[in-house]
Order: sequence, then C-alpha cells, then structure tokens
Amino acid sequence: MDSEADSTSPSVQPQSEIPEVSTNPTTATPESIAVEPSNPPEIPAARFTTNPLTGAAMLEEKLEELTAWATLPNYQLDNDSECALGGLTEYAEAGAMAFHTTNQMKSLLRLPVKRKIDVKRAITVNRQQNAQAVQAFMRGDAANPACISCSKGSGPFPICVTAAGCLRGACASCHYGGEGSRCSFRKPRKFYLISAGDVY
Ligand SMILES: [Zn+2]
Ligand SMILES: [Zn+2]
Repeated sequence: MDSEADSTSPSVQPQSEIPEVSTNPTTATPESIAVEPSNPPEIPAARFTTNPLTGAAMLEEKLEELTAWATLPNYQLDNDSECALGGLTEYAEAGAMAFHTTNQMKSLLRLPVKRKIDVKRAITVNRQQNAQAVQAFMRGDAANPACISCSKGSGPFPICVTAAGCLRGACASCHYGGEGSRCSFRKPRKFYLISAGDVY
C-alpha cells in the first residue's frame, strides 16, 4: 500500500509545471479593429437631385448625363435607333429634363402622358421647341380633322396632336422646328392670352 503513495506523489510535480502563460495576444486585435472606422469614408458621397419629370430623387450625375445627351448637336433618333442611354422614349424624357425650366415645357409637363413617342422620321430634341413638341405629342389630344400642315403630311409626327392650353394652340408637328406659326390651329396672341390666361 505504501508503494502506491510513493508512486503518485512524484507524478504531480511535472503537471504543476504546465505554465499558465498570461501573454495577451488578444489585446492587439481590438485596437486594430477600432482604427478602421475612424478613417474618413473613402467612397465619395452620391449627390442627389430631383427628377424634374417625376419629382423623385435621382443621381445628379445621371441628370447631367441625360441633359448632355439631349443637347448634343447634330444628333437625332428615330423609332428604331438607340444608344447606350436608351431609345427614343428615353431621349424624349431627356429632352424634357434639359428644357424643363421653360414656361411652355412647364405647362406641357402638367399634362399626363397619353401616348408613346412615335415619329415618321428621325428627330432631335436639342432645341427647346423640339423637346416641347415631343411632349405635346405625347400628352396632347389627337385633332380631328388635322391642321392644314399635318393633313398635307408635314411634320415629324404621324398624327396631328394639340395640347390644351399649350403652344398657343399649335399642333406638335407644326411646333417642331419652331414653326408653330404655320399651324392653322394657332391662335392669335391676344385671343390666346384672354382665353387661356396662360403666361407667355
Ligand atoms: Zn397638325
Ligand atoms: Zn399644325
């Protein structure tokens, strides 16, 4: 029995040598994590503006890009052509954005969209009259019978459309190219001011 006690006691010593090492390797990690958030944000903050057509928020950069597209010189699109920014529908919208501050465009944009843009030939919206004519076509009412010019087949749009209270009564096709004065529907300035009370 004595031999058992003797054999156990020496074996205790090596176990007690196992060190309780208190190196603190974990303290380095929290410090390095804490440093990262204190850096200022490297991603540039996105600048937002208001979409002049919908009133929703949109990227300022996108609005600038669409405005630049709409006002490109010597540029036109037809029903089937498109570019990286879109087709004729998007081009028509871009035109309205580019010239949304003009009084005539403001009046047009108050009307709901009634039809998709549709053209007989390639058009450009890089002039305010043209951009307005496009919106008048999309938001106005089909005239029946058509104005004299449209009934002769003139103008870029397939039907004669007038937008109530806008463009002094001229149709979209005649207003395109700034030739609204040729439209047989256009009202004299005095009469128009009295009847519509709009600002021109
Ligand atoms: Zn017409
Ligand atoms: Zn006309």
